[in-house]
Amino acid sequence: MGFVTADSQQSTYDVIVVGSGAGGGQAAYSLCMDGAKVLMLEAGRKYIPESEAAMFQTPDMAPLAAAGTPDKPFGFYDATVDGGWQVPGEPYVRATEDPAGRFEWWRARMLGGRTNHWGRNSLRNGPYDFKPYSRDGLGFDWPIGYEDVAPYYDKVELLVGVYGSNEGMENTPNSAPGCLLPPPAPIVSDYAIAKGAKRLGIPLIPLHRAVLTRPLDHRRNPARLHPGNPRAQQLAAAAMRTRAPCLWATPCGRGCAVRANYQSTTVHLPPALESGNLDITTDAMVYEVTLGPDGRASGVSFVDRTTGKQRHARARVVVLAASACESVRILLNSKSAQFPQGLANSSGKLGRYLMDTVGTSVGGQIPLLESLPPLNEEGADSLQLYTPWWLYQEQLAGKLGFARGYHIEPQGGKRMPRFDTLGGIEWLTGGSYGAKFKEDARRYYGSFVGFDGRGEMIPNEHSYCEIDPAVKDKWGIPVLRFHWQWSEHELRQAAHMQRTFGDIISEMGGRTSTPVETDGAKAIAPGGSIIHEVGGAIMGADAKKSVTNRWSQTWDVPNLYLADGAVFASNADKNPTLTIMALAWRTADHILERMRRREL
Ligand SMILES: Cc1cc2nc3c(=O)[nH]c(=O)nc-3n(C[C@H](O)[C@H](O)[C@H](O)COP(=O)(O)OP(=O)(O)OC[C@H]3O[C@@H](n4cnc5c(N)ncnc54)[C@H](O)[C@@H]3O)c2cc1C
Ligand code: SF4
Repeated sequence: MGFVTADSQQSTYDVIVVGSGAGGGQAAYSLCMDGAKVLMLEAGRKYIPESEAAMFQTPDMAPLAAAGTPDKPFGFYDATVDGGWQVPGEPYVRATEDPAGRFEWWRARMLGGRTNHWGRNSLRNGPYDFKPYSRDGLGFDWPIGYEDVAPYYDKVELLVGVYGSNEGMENTPNSAPGCLLPPPAPIVSDYAIAKGAKRLGIPLIPLHRAVLTRPLDHRRNPARLHPGNPRAQQLAAAAMRTRAPCLWATPCGRGCAVRANYQSTTVHLPPALESGNLDITTDAMVYEVTLGPDGRASGVSFVDRTTGKQRHARARVVVLAASACESVRILLNSKSAQFPQGLANSSGKLGRYLMDTVGTSVGGQIPLLESLPPLNEEGADSLQLYTPWWLYQEQLAGKLGFARGYHIEPQGGKRMPRFDTLGGIEWLTGGSYGAKFKEDARRYYGSFVGFDGRGEMIPNEHSYCEIDPAVKDKWGIPVLRFHWQWSEHELRQAAHMQRTFGDIISEMGGRTSTPVETDGAKAIAPGGSIIHEVGGAIMGADAKKSVTNRWSQTWDVPNLYLADGAVFASNADKNPTLTIMALAWRTADHILERMRRREL
């Protein structure tokens, strides 16, 4: 087994997994390690970070000094070799272009999906996050609680490697002993931010992030991951030994050839392939789940993008992990006499309750950080510290005017200079040239800080996707049309973020680079633009109000599962990917158990 074409696939498999990102990678890994024969179908091309990641290239080696362009918005060297805000030949439709109702959809089309360049911030949902309705009467409770997912958070952290610390803060869970790697040291700007924030009662603690600060414990972790399964332990240990700790020198968004950070392509897929239980077909664009006469999923139909031909693959179980909206699209397009509104849509809830993360940012300049001597303080190419939501009690007491919280991602320090570094500093210099400009550049380099807010959105009836009746992609597959609306809760939350960030910058003795925005509707980033889209096939306790049950198994088709963010019943401020992986592992265990009992 290994990489196969549509022609060299086996006639049938135990499980088909659609998509190879965080959810698909985790599901395939967990299934293969326990002996299931899996076919992974991935729409994008094969991608090998070890040989393709542009880790050490400098900006001067690329066109336009590696600056972002419409087709490479995160810069020339970004790991997303195919995909982005637009995917050629694969449009989608927005019901409106009005900023208030606009939805933006980032898609990766490559092996490993978005995990090749994601930010790697890996926060656990807390107990409140699984029961939000019980707390404030808004949105939905999940049919599971933190205690159901906690063992899987532990496993994912032990497997992928997450740095951080246990701080015991409210609704910010500790990991089990030995799960976390030590966090990196804070950098100079972190100390300055933490000092200013502390005076305002705002805590900063080490972020949890999927980057190895030291090698994984290949002697102990495998036994915790795969108890009673020596073969899986051996494979996991061997894979862990191939991963080097972080060099702290290269931009993670370009991918990591030394496997120091988590990408599905460097962490999940190699041991799954090594198990001999995984076949992967790339360039396989799945468009339909097919049904057998017994009403069960019989397999999937896909377009072989190398030939343009329509093909079919068979399995006992189908797991969709094509990313939340894409999995919904496949189901909505899987119409039959039995399911005229799309497969697994007897509730009418398929496509409903799309959520993203509330986002807004404020930047500023801090005189205290000017003219610092050059220091080796690149940090973690992202964040060392962050602020978890710290106002749970005030919010519960109704003092804030909005219902859900946000965390803060503070930025600072000196990164590798780019051609646009220190562009637009006229607001500080008044406009300088020649030697004076160089002097100013040295003075201000490293004195800027920024704050990104990442907040919870409450699911609502007006944020959903459906199949557009007219538009099709280049393969003839009908595309999605998105509808979006924020509620007052999100808008007020965004305004609160702005005020808070402005206050921290002032407290640090600095100035914001743009005025603090008091109007949440102007401050909030468009729906989808934080790239944390989840929902669309939410899990629930009632088959009439949800698409899947507590195992991410569709209510309507017992051998059809989802393993991406589509099943999220709420979208806590915590970035979603660690939860996607934990749920995917839990679902895989459920499938394995049911296959053992011959129920699937
Ligand atoms: C710039 C950026 C920064 C981010 N930072 C963070 C962060 O710090 N923390 C965090 O938690 N999350 C972050 N995210 C989000 C994170 O990447 C996603 O939550 C995560 O990758 C979702 O996993 P997934 O498996 O559902 O989807 P993906 O990783 O997108 O994988 C889906 C895969 O399915 C394939 N596919 C799609 N359609 C089909 C089809 N029809 N047939 C076959 N295959 C198909 C795709 O090609 C892709 O490979 C970030 C994302 C971006 C873009
Ligand atoms: S900073 Fe570390 S994790 Fe990121 S790409 Fe470089 S070596 Fe890999």
